[in-house]
Amino acid sequence: MDLQKNIEKYAQLVINTGVGLKKGQEVVLRSPIECAVFARAIAKAAFEKGAKDVQIQWKDELLDKIKYDYCDAEFFEEVPEWLALFNNSYAENNACFISIAGNDPDLLSDVDPKKVLNLNRASHKAFSKFYEKLDNGSLVWNIVSAPTKAWAKKVFPNDNEDTAVEKLWEAIFKAVRVDKDDPIAEWEKHNQSFKDKVEKLNSKQFVKLHYTNSIGTDIEIGMPKNHIWAGGGEYATDGTYFCPNMPTEEVFSAPKFDDVNGVVVSSMPLNYNGNLIDNFTFKFKDGVIYDYSAEQGLEVLHEIFATDEGSKRLGEVALVPYSSPISDMNILFYNTLFDENASCHLAIGSAYPMCVKDGLNMSKDELEKAGLNTSITHIDFMIGTSDLKIVGIQEDGTEVLVFENGNWAI
Ligand code: ZN
Ligand code: ZN
Repeated sequence: MDLQKNIEKYAQLVINTGVGLKKGQEVVLRSPIECAVFARAIAKAAFEKGAKDVQIQWKDELLDKIKYDYCDAEFFEEVPEWLALFNNSYAENNACFISIAGNDPDLLSDVDPKKVLNLNRASHKAFSKFYEKLDNGSLVWNIVSAPTKAWAKKVFPNDNEDTAVEKLWEAIFKAVRVDKDDPIAEWEKHNQSFKDKVEKLNSKQFVKLHYTNSIGTDIEIGMPKNHIWAGGGEYATDGTYFCPNMPTEEVFSAPKFDDVNGVVVSSMPLNYNGNLIDNFTFKFKDGVIYDYSAEQGLEVLHEIFATDEGSKRLGEVALVPYSSPISDMNILFYNTLFDENASCHLAIGSAYPMCVKDGLNMSKDELEKAGLNTSITHIDFMIGTSDLKIVGIQEDGTEVLVFENGNWAI
């Protein structure tokens, strides 16, 4: 593998397909210091495409960890003014925001969750212009990944650091189709297939989805009126076509928060802030999880379900074929960007407002009235298997096979 050449192809893909960069546009690039080689390649590709400027925000999670260890919870209730100004002003200027994710899945596992929550809340408040644009669909953004040593060792524990990093690069290239001759053309095809699926699903307007498989999943998930399926690239309000997540394999929507009945059994472990939850089962009645079990990590589930009312209900239903470049590798990445794209999944917690007609303009109350779940949390968990069957039921009772043997049937 020619690493440098693939990194350059990957960077081109991010700038062209990921954010659809326009001449004269500014780029805000967030990168771990360990991923500097990839960050520079992205910057170069951006300038080649006519970017006005590339502003880099270096991240160092070891430094974050030191701060979490030494500063008390109150410290995280505030965000420096200059940082707010930075993010808000670039967002207002229609810059695109690219983030390189490459976290050590275990590093923050023993940090007081209150500190993380405080920082999340404070950032949301301080970066209000940024989040406003993100929420109303006028911000162009993209998340990609590059290996860091700690992450690579977690995924490939039996290899030495260098080999693990190289293996993770190779896996990432495969997942984002950079191993192909022309990744940009591959993504055009990929996005077209998303469009086809999304159109079909939206036109059916299923009232229920019935999931069954041999490991014990048997659940009926109600769908709200005027729900919207989405997947692949999307249009920003100014018409820019961009791909927020690379890789992506999912077509997703929002379930009706009070109409979920039956049992789901996990098909992959869930890594929650460095804590593993494995072989778990959730039982639903009228949308609420009323009983649950787990072979590993049960106490973490107790904690999650204590977050708020919405944390015990579903906020996302996502369809991912069992055969895809990611799932075919059969690797647990300990990173949602990859793992959630390897399997059909559901999420407990908040629903995406875009998943119902006019949802982007709705208040929290209006979203709930429309049938969408609200919560401060959103956690994906994998339920796809090679024998998963999903039947969609239409208003008039017509049944349509959506998934068979783990793959698309529609
Ligand atoms: Zn998802
Ligand atoms: Zn999700």
